[in-house]
Amino acid sequence: MEKPRRVSYAGFAVQPRRNIDRLRPTVAIIGGGVGGCCSALELARTGKLNIFLLEKNRELMRESSDATPGRLGLGFHYSDKATALRFLHVTVDFIKRFGRFRQEITRKQSHPLRRGRYFIMKNSLVSVQDILKIYDAIKQEYAKMVGKDPTSEVLGPPDDIYRIMKSHEFEENVHIEEVAMGIETAEELLDWPRLREYIINQVTERKENRVSVMTNSKVVAITACKGGGYILEGLNTYHGCAAKISADFVVNSSWYNISKFNQLLGISSACSKRCNRFKAIATVQLPKELINLPSMFFCMGPFCMFSNKGNGIGMITLAPETNIAVTSSSPDELESDLHQDEKLAKGKRIVKGVSKFIPKMRDAKLTKVAIGVIQTFLDEDTIDHGFKIGNLDFIHDPTIGGISKRNYSGVEEPIPGYIINACMKLIYCFDNAKLVKDAIVRRYRQF
Ligand SMILES: Cc1cc2nc3c(=O)[nH]c(=O)nc-3n(C[C@H](O)[C@H](O)[C@H](O)COP(=O)(O)OP(=O)(O)OC[C@H]3O[C@@H](n4cnc5c(N)ncnc54)[C@H](O)[C@@H]3O)c2cc1C
Repeated sequence: MEKPRRVSYAGFAVQPRRNIDRLRPTVAIIGGGVGGCCSALELARTGKLNIFLLEKNRELMRESSDATPGRLGLGFHYSDKATALRFLHVTVDFIKRFGRFRQEITRKQSHPLRRGRYFIMKNSLVSVQDILKIYDAIKQEYAKMVGKDPTSEVLGPPDDIYRIMKSHEFEENVHIEEVAMGIETAEELLDWPRLREYIINQVTERKENRVSVMTNSKVVAITACKGGGYILEGLNTYHGCAAKISADFVVNSSWYNISKFNQLLGISSACSKRCNRFKAIATVQLPKELINLPSMFFCMGPFCMFSNKGNGIGMITLAPETNIAVTSSSPDELESDLHQDEKLAKGKRIVKGVSKFIPKMRDAKLTKVAIGVIQTFLDEDTIDHGFKIGNLDFIHDPTIGGISKRNYSGVEEPIPGYIINACMKLIYCFDNAKLVKDAIVRRYRQF
């Protein structure tokens, strides 16, 4: 196939033609979740590129990026040390830049809503000693970061990053018989709806170096051109019409569909192994006794999580109900999305199950169940390429398939000009966007 003209835009939608500068290279970003949106913003800042952001839904950030409670993880729920320390670094950088979007920023740092509690269970898959070794490593690393650069002290003093609690501090609120140890951490939450809206506004309302946002635009095929560049084929999901777009660079931010496009380009073996995990999360109205309690995480195993979103809203997961399916293949849609009545039944089971850990949760009122996708490392032998449903407890076992590792950015350039942006956590989004930009700028100079 011959090299495409610099821009041969055929139009998934009508709007962007006027934004094209024919002398600039074109970047097509597949997927308008947080990963794609932040990449678009970072690339727009160069002022040297035509940028197309292609999203199959009617709105940006309506899939996994809309299901998250926005926990600013510090590494405490990972049993892999490298992953834990990476989390700490990325979150500290994230807070330095976007700390104003923290949920309870107007309250004191010691306020319960700005603390996260971790409960190590008696039947934890990782021993208390091993967990504490990781927690200590997190504390030491944070102290080192603050020692090097005092502006990194965004989580309070290093000594306060975690402390072991006395049982009387939590016995009223958790099912204490099952708990081996309670730990309070400096982990807090993002006001994600506010930051999400801010990012969308930045992407859609830039005056200079605009991003051409094309919603209802589903990419169905991709081909590499002989002389360089790519042709993307798409469908307008509203009108049903087909179209082609050619681009000098492609950023694949399509999350659960990443490997689908890799396969179309014949490069799957050159990329990191990851699996998609379909995950449900329930939103509840909290009973008044829980409204001011810190967020909680029960670790390490198939247990549960409660994120206190403030204003009496909680988001909860219960591992056996929450983890719906695991697959290494690439489903085109969120195939395991459930019907409304199935979601409701699942939500009720989540509330009931979480009540076994946090008894007062039984009076919570279910308002919503959302489904998204988590990607983790997981070697292919473990999940056998298939779509696994049923008992998925194995995904919590740190000895299996490298499941507890997310110690890499997820940004890769397996062939020139084609950049994968697997945004392994929400908080990786800005860090990844810089890596995506660096990869493109490096190539652009050679252009
Ligand atoms: C229940 C849940 C809880 C989470 N909690 C946290 C947390 O507390 N903290 C944290 O840091 N992270 C959390 N995460 C992880 C975080 O949400 C994800 O890492 C992040 O949202 C991934 O962003 P993304 O843009 O890569 O994916 P997405 O938001 O899924 O975006 C991918 C986009 O690509 C589009 N797309 C796919 N295929 C195509 C195609 N063929 N053509 C065009 N568009 C396409 C999709 O429509 C979608 O909009 C959580 C995730 C889930 C599911």
